Amino acid sequence: MGDYSENRNWFEIIKHKEYLYVIRERLDEIDPRFYTTYDNLFLIIGSHSALLIDTGCGLFPLKPVVDDLIQDKTLLVINTHSHFDHVGGNYEFDEILIHNEEINSISKPMDISFLKDSPKEIAKLFESNNFTIPPVKNIKSIDDNEIIELGELSVKVIHTPGHSSGSISLLTNRNELFTGDTAHYGAIYVSKEDFTTHLTSLLKLLNLFQERGNIEIYPSHEEYVVDRELLIDLSYGIQNIENIWNTRARDDFIEAWLISDEKFKYLVF
Ligand SMILES: [Zn+2]
Ligand SMILES: [Zn+2]
Repeated sequence: MGDYSENRNWFEIIKHKEYLYVIRERLDEIDPRFYTTYDNLFLIIGSHSALLIDTGCGLFPLKPVVDDLIQDKTLLVINTHSHFDHVGGNYEFDEILIHNEEINSISKPMDISFLKDSPKEIAKLFESNNFTIPPVKNIKSIDDNEIIELGELSVKVIHTPGHSSGSISLLTNRNELFTGDTAHYGAIYVSKEDFTTHLTSLLKLLNLFQERGNIEIYPSHEEYVVDRELLIDLSYGIQNIENIWNTRARDDFIEAWLISDEKFKYLVF
């Protein structure tokens, strides 16, 4: 891997559309024990405001990268949910939007001492913050169906609990759907008691295709720009976990059961 001594070597910045940037970082370079290669952050730039979706792991400064891309536009920052790999850079920004259910977790310091024994040297950089993610000063709660106006672009909040209770997805008026950790390829984290909730959320997202026709899906991990097959595959996969339950193995780092099918890994709590 490259030299990460400067943040411009750490974040991979992809101009995916005139108004849509993908900012990627390598979660496996911080700790491969999450079974996840990429963290995808997204930046939507409207005519007067821009929306940053998630702030990543917080290992290197993200704000200068974003400021460069949006220039003098107003920046809004939203978290799809409060897991550490989505909120790590929150403290760099003035205000964070998040669903009500997860305000609590970002309003106090978050312990990430589980990264202390990462096999990756770079994780030691978190030592400067004592292996904690600093709390957010100003938090604004957002709710299902709320619309965030960026100018000619607008983004609708869709509450999609399951992966976590306050997980949200975001749908633009140009039919881009940002699913957070509710749907992505790779390793899916889900608790057994939330299977039904998660499946209901996937169905809610699938129903959007009925209303809107074609929608592009941009998940927070691994491949981005996938289609509705992801939602169908994941729905079947979660429903099938029960049937392959005897193939599970214990993962002591994640403290969950690890099960795989042809399309996904599942980490079941
Ligand atoms: Zn998550
Ligand atoms: Zn995640």
